[in-house]
Amino acid sequence: MSLKDKVALVTGSTSGIGLAVAKTLAQNGCNIVLNGFGEAQEIENLRNNLAKDNNIKVVYAEHDLSKAAQIDQMFKMIGSELGDVDILINNAGIQYVAPIERFPSNKWDAIIAVNLSAAFHTIRNVVPAMKKKNWGRIINIASAHGLVASKHKTAYVAAKHGIVGLTKSVALEVAEQMITCNAICPGWVLTPLVQKQIDDRAKANNWNNDKASKDLLAEKQPSLRFVQDEHIGEMVIFLCSDAGSSITGSALPMDGGWTAQ
Ligand code: NAD
Repeated sequence: MSLKDKVALVTGSTSGIGLAVAKTLAQNGCNIVLNGFGEAQEIENLRNNLAKDNNIKVVYAEHDLSKAAQIDQMFKMIGSELGDVDILINNAGIQYVAPIERFPSNKWDAIIAVNLSAAFHTIRNVVPAMKKKNWGRIINIASAHGLVASKHKTAYVAAKHGIVGLTKSVALEVAEQMITCNAICPGWVLTPLVQKQIDDRAKANNWNNDKASKDLLAEKQPSLRFVQDEHIGEMVIFLCSDAGSSITGSALPMDGGWTAQ
């Protein structure tokens, strides 16, 4: 089965994992909706190059996914520019690290809004058309932290466990209509979100970047290597293929052994 001309929305695709997933879907012929923050000219160049290199349509949605009303507006824009979304990748995410007694309430609210509630709002927008077409793919980029916890990441761990639950519940509701809903649970991937944690570790211990990266990996990830963001893109393609059509409601670790411990 070809993904050519399917419409794929990848939230948070101006950076990191989302960008890699958007590129892989584009290479497989999907028309793409990019979303996320960044410098306007850089995003426009990215949009243009992705469209030209793959001979596809690419639109950019600047909407802030922490706000439900903006998510609804985003789907109106996508509907008029590209039509219904066939493949939804909920990837936008943020992080904040602090002990619970010093965890700011506004950071809790922001993380729950972007990492969890946004996925509820995007899913409820895409399901009606997917049901009509009798085909759809919903893939939530959760985390190893959707399966196990680490200290000082209460909001992130709660949101990621929440999205694994949301994934299972949605999967049950749409299973008969050839729509699958899965979570991918990556371990450490070297993106700006993780680089900040490496920088904090380097600063706290007076280490260089290399020592701080190795220490971060050794603490959790037995492979001692970062997960490649393109490999997450390839997993998305597999889940979108016919061979992936019986995989639904699952939370698939791609974590170099993190959650096997
Ligand atoms: P990143 O910081 O490189 O990218 C995050 C993206 O989300 C950016 O495009 C950003 O603009 C967008 N975003 C943030 N807030 C937004 C908002 N309110 N509205 C719209 N877009 C918004 O991060 P990443 O590491 O690529 O993370 C992507 C996803 O993967 C996140 O959900 C993260 O939790 C998850 N994840 C990352 C890792 C890792 O090691 N990097 C591991 C497991 C899971």
